[in-house]
Amino acid sequence: MLFKKPQVAFYPFMVLRDDEKCIRCKSCVDQCSFDATYYDKDLDKILNHNENCVNCKRCEAFCPTDAIKVVKNPSTFHPDANWTEEAIRDIHTEMLTGAVILTSTGNDKPIKNYFDHLLLDACQVTNPPIDPLREPMELKTFIGRKTDKVEFEEDGVTIKTKIGKQLELEIPVMFSAMSYGSINLNLQKAMARAAKEFGTFWNTGEGGLHKSLRDYKDCTVVQVASGRFGVDLEYLENSAAIEIKIGQGAKPGIGGHLPGEKVNEGIAETRMIPVGADAISPAPHHDIYSIEDLRQLIYALKEATNYEKPVFVKIAAVHNVAAIACGIAHAGADAIVIDGVRGGTGATPKSLRDHVGIPIELAIAAVDDRLRKEGLRNEVSLIAAGGFRSAVDVLKAIALGADAVYIGTVAKLAAGCTQCQQCHTGRCAWGITTNDPKLAKRLNPDIVAENLYNILRAWAHDIKELLGAMGINAIESIKGNRLRLRSWGLTEQENKILGVLPAGM
Ligand code: SF4
Ligand code: SF4
Repeated sequence: MLFKKPQVAFYPFMVLRDDEKCIRCKSCVDQCSFDATYYDKDLDKILNHNENCVNCKRCEAFCPTDAIKVVKNPSTFHPDANWTEEAIRDIHTEMLTGAVILTSTGNDKPIKNYFDHLLLDACQVTNPPIDPLREPMELKTFIGRKTDKVEFEEDGVTIKTKIGKQLELEIPVMFSAMSYGSINLNLQKAMARAAKEFGTFWNTGEGGLHKSLRDYKDCTVVQVASGRFGVDLEYLENSAAIEIKIGQGAKPGIGGHLPGEKVNEGIAETRMIPVGADAISPAPHHDIYSIEDLRQLIYALKEATNYEKPVFVKIAAVHNVAAIACGIAHAGADAIVIDGVRGGTGATPKSLRDHVGIPIELAIAAVDDRLRKEGLRNEVSLIAAGGFRSAVDVLKAIALGADAVYIGTVAKLAAGCTQCQQCHTGRCAWGITTNDPKLAKRLNPDIVAENLYNILRAWAHDIKELLGAMGINAIESIKGNRLRLRSWGLTEQENKILGVLPAGM
């Protein structure tokens, strides 16, 4: 038998502290929420429990003398392409807990990122580019059911066609669903403020809408998931749109579980459950087993809100995503949200996060194609989610056929997240995915709202620059325009699915 547990003996990260530089201020001790560092009075030294270090880097950021560096443990296992360090550590964890390995964030495996294999076009000589600093550029995007044709009154000017309620976005980017409970209220406040100021939308996730956020109803998408947390008429009315969550990219096919110990008074009140009760979202909606059942829920929500709110349906990108999306369009949804295999989460079994689903790039192309073939493309907007990193990813997604995208990880990064993959522990040192009041205070919603606004502003500029180079002055003109994309390093089959030509053709 091992002398020490393997987790203690073979830790992945270590805290290196330069004792000469350290002034014993104990800042790192106070900041570490994983007990990886402590002060030894007798030795007058700061020491480490390296086995607890998760590489969140909070101590590095707060050390006033730059005495700390968190590094990967140089002592590695024997190199083995089959028995990788990760495979060995997973066995060690299972051996200790006898449970499914939980994790968080998005898939961290090197699954091919098709955005990195797509190149955008630019104008030269015969088709002039547009200077976005001199010419008006339009990023305005409308989400909702469109009409196939527009009819006019007899005067030939007044539009006769009635069009359903649309969401109006100043940039085709929204903040994706992250529930109160999985993240703390301060991040929701920051997203709501940034969305309102910029002219876009944020999404409550499945944890209800805290009463302090009702002022943001005009930029709020409220979610209705299988647990129905916080759902009543008032909740539905305090929104601009309603999203039925069927699945999410980080855990397709399973539900969610917010442990009772995290359900404090605010979360309990917002979710409409008792304090300390486990908040369990079942894997299926127990009233949805067919497209007809889904249609009933869509129309129940529309009826309840007087047909004033577009209804989205969110699914994970799975193998037959195009057929499912068509069913959702037939069921009467105003928008389909598809979350790809790189989508993030606050907690999920590692096996599901890393091995279930398909990349969002392939899903967008497949769904857009199928909706067009079935004559349904106008009936429904397509919103893509799952690992968007930049304005370039957004533009490529729109060229592939999406109307808009959701971003979640970017919002967490704007709040200080270092992608340490510990959200599920509830001990986020940056105060993001925790409801510990002491840790939650670390997230200042005013600063994060400004960071988020700046990211949207930067992306809007970037998209305009790219569109200008393509000689396009409105985002609408690049939507589904795959002729302005070329691929590199992809197979014939991959190009066929994406509907793009290889570079050089
Ligand atoms: S924060 Fe830096 S200076 Fe302060 S105790 Fe830790 S290592 Fe030393
Ligand atoms: S939100 Fe916090 S716990 Fe989650 S990955 Fe980011 S830093 Fe780590």
